[in-house]
Amino acid sequence: MAVLPIRKIGDPVLRTKAKPVDKFTEKTENLIVNLIDTMHDAEGLGLAATQIGVQLRAAVVEVNGELLEIINPEVFDEEGREIAEEGCLSIPERNGLVARPEKIKLTAYNRYGEKYEREFSDLAARVILHEIDHLDGVLFIDKMIDPAELAGMEG
Ligand code: ZN
Repeated sequence: MAVLPIRKIGDPVLRTKAKPVDKFTEKTENLIVNLIDTMHDAEGLGLAATQIGVQLRAAVVEVNGELLEIINPEVFDEEGREIAEEGCLSIPERNGLVARPEKIKLTAYNRYGEKYEREFSDLAARVILHEIDHLDGVLFIDKMIDPAELAGMEG
């Protein structure tokens, strides 16, 4: 389909809350294909619809060689806490430490409207939660831990 421009920080669309997909049509399939093409072109681990200016609750994630289609995601359980570095295709050349659950249980739909339920951990869980944040207008810089604060926590 198409590689689309990725919206960058400062673009107000990144701060909007996306609406649920209520009909699974050819448009939904095209959106997912465009997200995959754009994510691959940018060599990212994930991409949310809001990052290409589409205010729908849809994202794609590719971790450990597995491509996930994540539409209308709901996290219904989480466990543990892990601090790791994150970056974002919408915030070039910036990284920061973010605390996220280690494990999540999620329900979501694929492009055909088929619902699935799965458990994810570590990097996959982190990337999925990062993308879900995008669908709520939240960016990783909002959650960034100051390394000095972290040193204090450990000490
Ligand atoms: Zn991002």
